[in-house]
Amino acid sequence: MINLEQIYQARENISDIAKTTPIMTSNRISANAGNQLFLKCEHLQKTGSFKIRGASNKVKDAAARLNPDAIITASSGNHGQAVAYIANQLGVPSTIVVPEDASVNKLKAIELYHGNVEFCGTTSEERINRAKKICEAENGIYIPPYDDPLIMAGQGTVGLELIEQVEDIGEVYVPIGGGGLISGVLTAIKETKPSIRVIGVEPAIANDTYLSLNKGERVNIGGTTTIADGLRTSIPGELTFPVVQKYVDDIVLVDEDAIQEAFGIVLTRMKQVIEASAAVSVAAALRSAPDGKRIVALASGGNIDNKVIQSLLK
Ligand SMILES: *Cc1c(COP(=O)(O)O)cnc(C)c1O
Repeated sequence: MINLEQIYQARENISDIAKTTPIMTSNRISANAGNQLFLKCEHLQKTGSFKIRGASNKVKDAAARLNPDAIITASSGNHGQAVAYIANQLGVPSTIVVPEDASVNKLKAIELYHGNVEFCGTTSEERINRAKKICEAENGIYIPPYDDPLIMAGQGTVGLELIEQVEDIGEVYVPIGGGGLISGVLTAIKETKPSIRVIGVEPAIANDTYLSLNKGERVNIGGTTTIADGLRTSIPGELTFPVVQKYVDDIVLVDEDAIQEAFGIVLTRMKQVIEASAAVSVAAALRSAPDGKRIVALASGGNIDNKVIQSLLK
């Protein structure tokens, strides 16, 4: 398991890359919800999501210790963008293996950061195998998306930050994909201010962590079609899951309509564009019992295609 010390270390390591993102609040939304709601704005983070925190921590370490000729990962989403960005900053070539149906915007972002895009199949298994082969052929380092102590510690820095920014927090809502974000945030919060309740959130149709916690072991749910595309992981991480088991206060499930509604509320009331994976935590926060407490919803990212925005507003 990671510890608090590793998160402080990560914070130092990435201080020249990751921004301290703002906190926003809306009195109107809060009045309706019966709690004071704060948004932790990682959609305004460099590369558009918190993923740059973990990726920077991991890629910097790998580049310094192993002097690789290439940095490789297998993600069409925010992790791929973050890895391409930090590799470019460090002057190391990167290759991002993406599915054949990856969205144009995401490919554009990877190319903007000078990452090489390599198409491979449609499943994450095919992509990861391809990425590992490229690593062998090119003296490269594979950067996993969540199941790695340096990635988890990097993501945990957002937890340290938000407890310094908001006083008297009652609850923090965190979306769960593979669990890198929540395992870092749990460690940061529970090892400094354990009275704050930390609640994980999953789409009801991507409830692998919820089922795993109930069963006491990691459950694989196979494929899912949730609009929260950053949360489509089919099974919790090997390293992340024990941290969730140890520390999480609760897991809340939200349905697809609630995610869509939360996206619209944040857009119209707060004038912020967040992606569906981030709207998941807002949707859960809005359903917390109305008793005037102070709640932080982690807005984990803002990378969303124009077409998806249109469909969410319908
Ligand atoms: C990756 C991602 C998540 C989930 O993070 P995990 O570390 O996989 O649990 C949530 N929101 C956004 C925007 C993401 O990119």
